[in-house]
Amino acid sequence: MILPAQAKEKAARTYAQEDLDQVFHEFDSGQSGLSSKQAISRLKHFGANTIQKTQQEAQWKIFLKNFTSLMAILLWVSGVIAIVSGTLELGIAIWCVNIINGCFSYYQQHEAQKATDSMLAMLPTYTEVYRDNKLQQLDSKNLVPGDVFMLTAGDAIPVDARILQATSLQVDESALTGESVPESKEEKYAPGEGQFAETNMVYAGTSVVNGTCSCLTIATGMNTEFGKIAQLTHAQKKVASPLQIELNRLTRQLSIIAFGIGAAFFLASILFVHYAPAKAFIFALGMIVAFIPEGLLPTVTLSLAQGVKRMAKKHALVKELNSIETLGEATVICSDKTGTLTQNQMTVNHIWTKANTYTVSGQGYAVNGKVQLNDQDVAYKDYPDLKQALLISTLDNEAKIQADPKNPGQQKIVGTPTERALMVTALKAGFDIEAALKAQPRLQECPFDSQRKRMTTIHPATNGQKLVLVKGALDGMLPLCDQIQTDGKQQEITDADVKQIQGANEHFAAQGWRSLALAYKVADDPQAKVSTSAAESHLIFVGLEVMSDPPRAEVYQAVQKCHDARIRIIMVTGDSALTAKSIAVKIGITGDNARVVTGDELHKMTDDELKIALSGPVIFARVAPEQKYRIVSNLQARGEVVASTGDGVNDAPALKKADIGIAMGKMGTDVAKDAADMILTDDNFASIVAAIEEGRAVYSNIQKFLLYILNSNMPEAVPSALFLFTRGAIPLPLTVMQILTVDLGTDMLPALGLGSERAEPDVMKQPPRPRKAHLLRKNIVWKAFGWYGLMASTISSFAYFYTNFQLGRTWTTLATSGPIYREATTMTLAAIVFSQIAAVLNCRTQQLSVFSIGIFSNKHVWFGIAFEIVLLAVLIYTPFLQGVFNTTGIGLREWLFLICIPIPLFLIEEYRKYLSRKLFAHRNKLYTQSAVQH
Ligand code: ADP
Ligand code: MG
Repeated sequence: MILPAQAKEKAARTYAQEDLDQVFHEFDSGQSGLSSKQAISRLKHFGANTIQKTQQEAQWKIFLKNFTSLMAILLWVSGVIAIVSGTLELGIAIWCVNIINGCFSYYQQHEAQKATDSMLAMLPTYTEVYRDNKLQQLDSKNLVPGDVFMLTAGDAIPVDARILQATSLQVDESALTGESVPESKEEKYAPGEGQFAETNMVYAGTSVVNGTCSCLTIATGMNTEFGKIAQLTHAQKKVASPLQIELNRLTRQLSIIAFGIGAAFFLASILFVHYAPAKAFIFALGMIVAFIPEGLLPTVTLSLAQGVKRMAKKHALVKELNSIETLGEATVICSDKTGTLTQNQMTVNHIWTKANTYTVSGQGYAVNGKVQLNDQDVAYKDYPDLKQALLISTLDNEAKIQADPKNPGQQKIVGTPTERALMVTALKAGFDIEAALKAQPRLQECPFDSQRKRMTTIHPATNGQKLVLVKGALDGMLPLCDQIQTDGKQQEITDADVKQIQGANEHFAAQGWRSLALAYKVADDPQAKVSTSAAESHLIFVGLEVMSDPPRAEVYQAVQKCHDARIRIIMVTGDSALTAKSIAVKIGITGDNARVVTGDELHKMTDDELKIALSGPVIFARVAPEQKYRIVSNLQARGEVVASTGDGVNDAPALKKADIGIAMGKMGTDVAKDAADMILTDDNFASIVAAIEEGRAVYSNIQKFLLYILNSNMPEAVPSALFLFTRGAIPLPLTVMQILTVDLGTDMLPALGLGSERAEPDVMKQPPRPRKAHLLRKNIVWKAFGWYGLMASTISSFAYFYTNFQLGRTWTTLATSGPIYREATTMTLAAIVFSQIAAVLNCRTQQLSVFSIGIFSNKHVWFGIAFEIVLLAVLIYTPFLQGVFNTTGIGLREWLFLICIPIPLFLIEEYRKYLSRKLFAHRNKLYTQSAVQH
């Protein structure tokens, strides 16, 4: 086998000027591409067609980073100071904590990275490649030099390639050249201006904006021009997301508080209890370590990553971890109609012509309501208008009838749902599509685009004339028609005809059906290539082909959820005003009072007028995708957080502009997917709502986590405060080592468990969180310090004094050392740990009863609880550790006491939640009443 050996050394563009046969020869390929055998051996030789954009940082460097952060360095130094000042155990303990914390952070980072990597792996791009003489959909990674493939508008160009054949091809090369105006390309060579401007070459990393082409692969992967550039450029610095900024802010705030408290304790211990500075420093250190939320950043990342995984199960792939957080803030969803809200299962139900209305059903065709024509072979032959309609709808059609590889002998139709439906309808009437295509093959096409909203093809007719076939949106096509065909005869189109056509169209649209107008002409046209505007003029109107596309079953509930969550839905569609409204009302997106703004009206509106329209219920119909950008940016100017869907090339600007751009995974183009933040693998509106729900859940989990780790600071600080402010009259009830035990030991896993809490059933019953809201809300601080913290402090202090009293001590003779002191501090520590068990359960919901979400429904939390009890037992029963942590074994009675602690704490909080729910229900009722009035 010959391999195109030179392909590696020779720059791709040198193939632009070579004779095509010579290029084919060099690549041992031809018009019909490679065999799969050739492809396999080339894939081995050249490697997969992938681009490693940046050199990945070595794992060990990432690992080490966790030990060189400011926090970590502080702990290293503290350890040294502790050792130097004579407390060897403390020094070693702080170092151990630092090592454990570092490993833990690394593990979390690693898990999060794995989650995002697997997400990206779920987003392959496909290319239509000729292999073994057959056109096949392949993962673009498998392309090799010599492969022949096809591209259409919206495709990302996967490799450097020479164009074999092109139709109205325009390519966006801005990724390579920075030039944002699309370049026209064709099969003929011209040098063009600047790099990458050869007219017959396309380059990896760019995309097709318009038209179609077939190409021969010259270079793949890192051998492409784009790959070479990617090799050179350095890793781009990532900009911090709002969540990161907020978290950094939070860490800073909490650190300042921690150091403030540390300083206060340092001074107080010198002044009040006359500690030596070294001892005072250690003492203060305990407080600082207790208050700094060490695990916060990696834990947030991990819970975002878990959110990403859960979303993927619900068909929403998020490209960036941080977009999850924005999802939870969304106040408006701008949604496409076809395929997103509806099933994209097009079924033609009527063909309307001036003379007759044909009803299409499973049984066959009926003319004017009378069932007829079961003899399918002749169904259309006596009806020239029907015949003409079927001709237009099948020849002016991109769908293809192919052999079905899965069912040998069978055929299948590939193409968009709309065009497939047209094909199926013609076949039902016994129309021989292949024969028609053979008789009049396509000479030229003006592809469908969502701006013109129609598609035109040109075929040979008798006497050297040309047959022009047009199908598309009625409103755009009526002005192009001079004549109308009735019973095979052409007449001038009259105002009455126009009225009749529009009347019929409205009748169908009111059912929520979509219709395509069909028209044609036979023209002398000596020119080889007819311009689009020349082709699409002086047409003969034939009829309307009407199809239904029912709403998706899940959409009704999803829409209701959005209403409950006070998220507005704005339908933005290319379809007609009436069809759009009928569907919107049917699904419950708007009432009958909604304003419908068409693309033309939007074009004439000022931004102020648009903003007024956007303040009420509104539907946008017959808009071009470019107009979505204006809608999105005006919504944003009104202070909304906008999620917007899109699938085409022209949707990209709006997808980028939106706070959350959502591309369709199935019907969407590569360009749209590239511009989006999130991709729906099932194109389903309901998945957007599910993702928003997850987004809200993740954010509230971060808050739950915060609440939990903050609340243990209170019982950690109170004992030291008691000690200090009684000038040592109360011996220290909780040693520094014990504080560290809680903060960096027992609290770790339960806190993490909160990160995987599922969405509370009422997250979608609340309004979106305001954009400016801070993570650390006042009520969290209050709840942490003033409520959960206070309860835990009371109980742990009680445990401390009670143990003393049980063992024969009084207020004035509290033990300062020895076994009684040990037992007392052990009980303080254990009481905090058991209070935290109640706390972690309490943190699982904000307002709902924990019973309503299932008390055992989060296994991670229970695993964390088991872990902390075992850790506590290890610390108080291992002789070696007893010395280090100032602990001692405790008896059965003590254990019974400890086990009882969580019960009242849990029940009291349940009662508080119950009261708060009652209050909330009342407020909510008031809101709903006022909302209805507006
Ligand atoms: P939507 O917003 O519902 O997805 P589209 O952008 O798919 O709308 O289509 C807008 C309009 O363009 C349709 O209402 C129809 O009139 C016309 N149209 C859609 N598909 C085709 C096609 N393949 N050929 C011709 N016209 C089409
Ligand atoms: Mg569309």
